[in-house]
Amino acid sequence: MSNIAALMERNKAFASSGAWRNTPRLPFLPFNGLYIITCVDPRTDPADFLGIQFGDAIVARTLGGRVTPAVIRDLSYIGYLVEAKAPEGPYFEAAVIHHTDCGSRLLEDPELRHGFAQRAGYDEGELAALPATVPAETVRADVARLLDAPQVSTRTTISGHVYDTSTGLLQTVAEPARVGS
Ligand SMILES: [Zn+2]
Repeated sequence: MSNIAALMERNKAFASSGAWRNTPRLPFLPFNGLYIITCVDPRTDPADFLGIQFGDAIVARTLGGRVTPAVIRDLSYIGYLVEAKAPEGPYFEAAVIHHTDCGSRLLEDPELRHGFAQRAGYDEGELAALPATVPAETVRADVARLLDAPQVSTRTTISGHVYDTSTGLLQTVAEPARVGS
């Protein structure tokens, strides 16, 4: 039996609960106006540490919670959808969250990094820039990257936070600011 098979029963329970009926007016306008970018780490699911519920937020998860060109593309697309389809808003607050004890830090090991670059054909220099070594610093860098991204709607707000895996607490390290401001 596959790992997903056990979840099919949970899906049936979800379907019969009817929770899926409570959708936002437009699916790209989540109830809380939030666009959360966080790590793929199983401990950093915002449904757990922020209590995000059905339809509350758009959630993007990447290695380390790092802002990649794909993250910028998706955030700018959703912002554009709001401008084009619901110009009255509400517009998004995007929250970038990095965390302590991140698995991306394993790439700080030159041997492991070299092996992965060789194995998968990635650029070793780019991989070296990936680890959230000091999450307060990498999250500020990624917030700055989004604030400066010309693709992202200037009606989007960006903030940055660090989640501490040893306490469960989230700390804000970059207060919300408007893109292009
Ligand atoms: Zn991580």
